Amino acid sequence: MSEKKDDSIPSIKVVLLGEMGVGKTNLINAYCNRQFNSQSFSTTSPEFSQKKIKIDNKNYLIDLWDTAGQEKYRSMTKIFIKGAQLIIFVYDITKEDSFQKLNFWVNFVEELLWENSYYGVVGNKSDLFESQVVNSNDGKKFADDIGALFCQTSAKEDQDGFKKYVENLVRKLIKKNNIINGIGDKLSKKTNNSKNGCSC
Ligand code: GDP
Ligand code: MG
Repeated sequence: MSEKKDDSIPSIKVVLLGEMGVGKTNLINAYCNRQFNSQSFSTTSPEFSQKKIKIDNKNYLIDLWDTAGQEKYRSMTKIFIKGAQLIIFVYDITKEDSFQKLNFWVNFVEELLWENSYYGVVGNKSDLFESQVVNSNDGKKFADDIGALFCQTSAKEDQDGFKKYVENLVRKLIKKNNIINGIGDKLSKKTNNSKNGCSC
């Protein structure tokens, strides 16, 4: 689907990273389409969704990039991370391994990012609290250590949770870069050439 480009609105590139199966695709779907899919389809190439938001009376386009967690797609993922202003590391609260792997993902992005980018850490699947193995304090500590904003949520049962969280992250990013006073044009206005675009 082709996107009509509006150059007057700054766009913020947000990339979700994490192991396969942690819920990246469903978090984006919850945000953009208020949908949850109980089946698992593996994401192979980075996919893009767009959302317009208003913060302090100014419009922003949030470009949400979904990526593949699998190793064989990592070189492609690397290309799509470049220029991201927000990177959200996602783990599954019921899978310790998906949390341990966040160290890998943090190293993976470190040399690729714009110096003023901002991190988030999301523990997903909070509806499965009975099977929780990663304590939210550990998630929060990990986030604090890398200077990220933490959130524990569920793409399945708290569809507004991720939306509110992303908007908080955008606020932090804007504050960090003093974008409110017009310096925000530092934010990239580039759009993309993905054929998987959806507008929401
Ligand atoms: P991705 O590989 O990180 O994109 O993960 P998906 O979004 O494809 O989700 C993988 C599997 O986890 C699917 O079967 C989803 O239905 C399930 N899933 C994703 N988010 C949640 C959630 O918040 N709660 C529960 N119970 N299942 C979830
Ligand atoms: Mg996926």
